[in-house]
Formats: sequence, structure tokens, C-alpha cells
Amino acid sequence: MIRTALIAAGIGALLWLERRRPLRAGVEPGPRRIVRNLAVGAVTAAAVSAIERPIVERVSRMTEKHGWGLVTRLDLPAPVRIAVAIALMDYTLYWWHVLLHRVPVLWRMHAPHHIDRDLDTSTGVRFHFAEFVASIPWRCAQVLSIGVGPRTLSLWQQLTLAEVLFHHSNVRLTRGFERALSRLIVTPRLHGIHHSVVRDERDSNFSSGLTLWDRMHGTAHMDPDRDDVKIGLPGHDDPRELTLVRTLALPFNEVF
Ligand SMILES: [Zn+2]
Repeated sequence: MIRTALIAAGIGALLWLERRRPLRAGVEPGPRRIVRNLAVGAVTAAAVSAIERPIVERVSRMTEKHGWGLVTRLDLPAPVRIAVAIALMDYTLYWWHVLLHRVPVLWRMHAPHHIDRDLDTSTGVRFHFAEFVASIPWRCAQVLSIGVGPRTLSLWQQLTLAEVLFHHSNVRLTRGFERALSRLIVTPRLHGIHHSVVRDERDSNFSSGLTLWDRMHGTAHMDPDRDDVKIGLPGHDDPRELTLVRTLALPFNEVF
């Protein structure tokens, strides 16, 4: 309950800051786009609670019961073991995001997230349900191999949700603060580069939490002073193709 209240308060703070200190000018202003993004997110949330959550939580309970996974073999105090597990979940999420961009069938499912021509907190929930359904085997493999029990899984999910909403937000942080923060975690300007229409920029900054993974693998585009990014996908500028129904149909009938 406390974590949910904190996330709700965080979303409220981001929405307020986006109005007070916007980072980029809006291409498609007004409530229509935000309602569309929330609707895409609501369909995905329904798919997650009906399909993904029961499967992944069951695997997580079995993992804990049988003591499977890497971290259970480490002779470490419990808080350190939880921190290592969360870092490894974040690292393997980096690889899932790389695959979403590099494997054509997965890119079709991830493209509805990138086709948004603006980037703000509402983009942080605009993920196609097919992307989450496709991620179930990967998520189960993460939980099993790392050794993630239900409480650690829930903590990782909440931290990741908070960080995803934050780095998608259109909040203008001071340059010095953003530069310092981006040495540790993904910030709005850094993730804005990942949403660029330019292919080379889009194929960078795959991290969702710690920026360490991009720096380790040479995919970092660390330019925290950058705020002139054109957001979206090339060839998808027509607002008529961005309706809710077309967005939900994109992975099944669009060629990217
Ligand atoms: Zn992406």
C-alpha cells in the first residue's frame, strides 16, 4: 500500500513538473494523445494481470520454494542478495530491450511504443500488450536463473515502473543535476535520445534503470545536455495512423 501510494504521488509530481518545467515542446498537444496512451496502457495492464502476472508469480514462488537461481548460492546478507538480484533483473531487462530492437518480430511489438511523436509520462505506460505477452518466457527465465522470490520481484517491478515513468517524463531538470544523476540512472534527456527518429540514436541507451549496462556494452549515448531530439519513427508522422485501433493493430499489419 505504501509503495503504491508513493508511486501515485510520484506520478502526480511528474505530471505537475511536466506542466511547470517542460523539456520539449509538444507536437500533438491536448488530451486526445494522453487518453490514447492511457488506453493502450490499460489494455496492456489487463493482459498483464490476466496472463503475465499469474505465470511469472507462480514461477517466482517455485523458485523461492526450491532455492533455485544464482543469488541463492551467494553467501551474502539478505539485503545485499536482494540488491544483487534487482541489479541482475535490470541487466537482463537491458538485453530484452536490445532484442526488442534487433529481432524484427519483436520490433513490430515494441514499435507502437516508439511511434508516439511526443514523449512524456503517458508514453511510459504506452506499451503494446503483445510486447508484454511475448516477454513472459524471458521474464520466467530471468526469475529462475537469477533466483528471484515474490517479494524481490514485486520490489523490482515497482522500482522499474517508477524509473520508467520518470525517464519517459517531459521534465526539464537542471543540466548539472541531470548530468550527475545520469551517471547512475536513466534520465529524461538520455531516454529522449532513445526515442529519436534517427536510427543510430534509437539504437542506443537501452537501459531501463542503471546506465551502467549501456556504458558496459558500448551502447551509451551520454549527452545529458541534448534537448532538441525529434521524437517518433520516420515515415509515421500522420496523426490519422496513430488512432487507438491502428496502434493496437500495428504489430499485426504494419511493416517497419
Ligand atoms: Zn525501445
